[in-house]
Amino acid sequence: MIQNVQILPRNEAYWQDNEWKKLLSTAIRDPNELLRLLELDIAELPYQLDKDQSFKTLVPLSFVERMQKTDPSDPLLLQVLPLSEESIRVSGYSNDPLGESTALAQTGMAGLLHKYQSRVLFMLATHCAVNCRYCFRREFPYQENRASKQDWHQLATYLKKNPQINEVIISGGDPLAVNDAYLVEFVAFIEQIPQIIRLRIHTRLPVVIPQRVTSKLLSLTKSRLQMVMVMHVNHPNEIDDKFTSAMHKLAQAGFTLLNQSTLLKGINDCPKILSELSEVLFSAKVTPYYLHMLDRVNGAAHFAVSNKDANVIYKQLQANLAGFLVPKLVQEKSGEPNKTLVDLTI
Ligand SMILES: *Cc1c(COP(=O)(O)O)cnc(C)c1O
Ligand code: SF4
Repeated sequence: MIQNVQILPRNEAYWQDNEWKKLLSTAIRDPNELLRLLELDIAELPYQLDKDQSFKTLVPLSFVERMQKTDPSDPLLLQVLPLSEESIRVSGYSNDPLGESTALAQTGMAGLLHKYQSRVLFMLATHCAVNCRYCFRREFPYQENRASKQDWHQLATYLKKNPQINEVIISGGDPLAVNDAYLVEFVAFIEQIPQIIRLRIHTRLPVVIPQRVTSKLLSLTKSRLQMVMVMHVNHPNEIDDKFTSAMHKLAQAGFTLLNQSTLLKGINDCPKILSELSEVLFSAKVTPYYLHMLDRVNGAAHFAVSNKDANVIYKQLQANLAGFLVPKLVQEKSGEPNKTLVDLTI
């Protein structure tokens, strides 16, 4: 059964522009505290926690609220809880599975990746509002790649030298972790470059803290640039009334809304869950875009779904859903001119 989703958000009021920052400042940073909040007893867990974490625990309470108390296998909990499996080293996994250090060296600019012809990816922020255990940038050396305002001019020079680029994608970290004033300034800067027609924001922030959708963020659509926002939602339980309300506001303001998910073992590796996810996303005005195979980053091997299993799940998804609700099943291979569709004939 598809859960009944409210089409019209209950609360149309604008959130205070600084509310999201307060919610971020009270985020949980201790896995034991997270377990306590969920009324889970450490001694009775079906798994062990990882003790030695360089990639810290970080999860806002607004996300914890969507977890099921007393369920150690809650699909939202397992996305953020550091398990002992993370310290197992598995062959084929590395700290930089997509060869990003080489790609960064190619542009020679802090935080700028130019892998695909018509678009560049710029890391506007070096932190996130949630630390997802499967993140392919969990070992990324952000400190060495911190782009500051002084680097924007270099970005403009790079774009002018490469006139085939028409889209700037901001990423991170989470690009919405920066202040609105900084975002507004960045958009105004990019807007002056005539070849750029589109700005794309890849973010998980409005998912974990819907209050991030402030009036200033909504006002970015006054720009001449077309605004696309790609959410990262993996499971239908991440979608609540506040998220839906935030998406309605973004859509109404003129953002094109897409979603990408990662196929994660024990979390969403099931056609029923993924079908429900597509349906509830679309009810929230978000179109499914990509379903990503896991990037092989150290510490995340326990989330991997085999290509064979992915194919079975995906074929069922195609059978279940209207064509426009089926995300593309892709995989990122370093050196390819675009993301690669997973071969469904295997
Ligand atoms: C995924 C990605 C993009 C965007 O690719 P689309 O297929 O247009 O979504 C751009 N640059 C980099 C480096 C990427 O990893
Ligand atoms: S970059 Fe995205 S996937 Fe990685 S930790 Fe941040 S929000 Fe999570």
